[in-house]
Amino acid sequence: MPEDSHYTVPADGKKISSKNDQLIIPKNPIIPFIKGDGIGLDIWHATEMVINTAIKKAYKGKRIIHWMEIFAGEKSYNEFGKWLPDETPAAIKDYHVAIKGPLTTPVGGGIRSLNVSLRQILDLYACIRPVRHFEGVPTPLAKPGALNVVIFRENTEDVYAGIEWESGSDIANRFIKMIKDEYNKDIRENSGIGIKPISPFGTKRLVRKAIQYAIDNNRKNVTLVHKGNIMKYTEGAFRDWGYELAKDEFSDSTIIEAVFWDEYSGMVRDKVVVKDRIADAMFQQILLRPDEYEVIATSNLNGDYLSDACAAQVGGLGMAPGANISDDVALFEATHGTAPKYTNQDKVNPSSLILSGVMMLDYIGWRESGSLIIDAIRETILQKKVTYDLERQMDGATKLSTSGFAEAIISNM
Ligand code: NAD
Repeated sequence: MPEDSHYTVPADGKKISSKNDQLIIPKNPIIPFIKGDGIGLDIWHATEMVINTAIKKAYKGKRIIHWMEIFAGEKSYNEFGKWLPDETPAAIKDYHVAIKGPLTTPVGGGIRSLNVSLRQILDLYACIRPVRHFEGVPTPLAKPGALNVVIFRENTEDVYAGIEWESGSDIANRFIKMIKDEYNKDIRENSGIGIKPISPFGTKRLVRKAIQYAIDNNRKNVTLVHKGNIMKYTEGAFRDWGYELAKDEFSDSTIIEAVFWDEYSGMVRDKVVVKDRIADAMFQQILLRPDEYEVIATSNLNGDYLSDACAAQVGGLGMAPGANISDDVALFEATHGTAPKYTNQDKVNPSSLILSGVMMLDYIGWRESGSLIIDAIRETILQKKVTYDLERQMDGATKLSTSGFAEAIISNM
């Protein structure tokens, strides 16, 4: 811990460590958390209450999380003059597993977004979004329960690499001229220029995570989603490198879709089927045939669109958890923002952060406590005890506060 740090290490907890890319989880791990700004405070308190109770019920005091508050965002800026003190990503790296509420994006000051900064500093290259429906949650679909998918979105490359130049800028003009002079390709005058890098390294480490997840969690298939029919050397290459990785590293546990049908007539049960879909077709597929997709691996921009579209199918971002992961660091987070107009009203839906907490419990292998939470959320929603965002769309529902919803979940455990 840095000498002038603002956080206090819990005396009774033990650090999670890592050996040969495997996490070693003690029975009393220290887990850093960032409460977050705006509604962060309310949803964090609800989440902490639910997680602690589930652990207590599942392990009868034999396991316990020692929470350690670390700082970022508005609270950090107001108290310590820094939006993202260096000690915060350093602590997340050091403790391996952390969870955060939403953070205000500073206006001006050269920081694009604290989330993006954290992802970049910690090289959290996989954004993982499980999307499933809880019976009773209002959705636009007739059969929302058929969708149960985990999306692995590449987090560091693609048009999100942040390499772009404004229309009319010197560098954009020089670029346009170079492409004309050296490669005889025309780009219209005064175009803005953005670069879309996609590498074999970035693709393969993402697809590796997705396939490993499918194997570990008995998921039947992994779909590589790309726009390779148009962007052959970026999106098309993503697909090719994905298949290459499956063949080179997972030949015993995966089977390519074409082989699965042509040679085995779909009669293989013990292998993960690796397939690919073009992004535009995938948006149709996930609506019309959602049960054919279990794990999706995709590039950054496709993943951004697809995760929100899938979340909408099951009731919106308020119910969608997420995590950003590298090889030995995992940061779990609510997928929505700080909803500043609801700050300190004890009003909003804490499910996104609670479900991110469940992902975290699964990640550290404490699945029994995660299952207790999932079952209790399911029961609470079936009882139509929900926060305002769901209550206003459900007939005969009881509107609960954020903390009231957490208490209802706990009483259903
Ligand atoms: P937002 O997600 O904060 O809120 C948009 C609207 O969604 C809210 O007004 C509210 O009606 C609804 N909503 C959001 N979360 C809800 C919940 N848990 N329960 C019920 N309703 C909920 O998006 P915004 O207003 O565009 O952004 C506000 C701030 O949050 C900005 O500073 C933005 O940069 C930041 N942000 C942070 C993250 C993050 O930290 N992961 C993500 C998105 C936005």
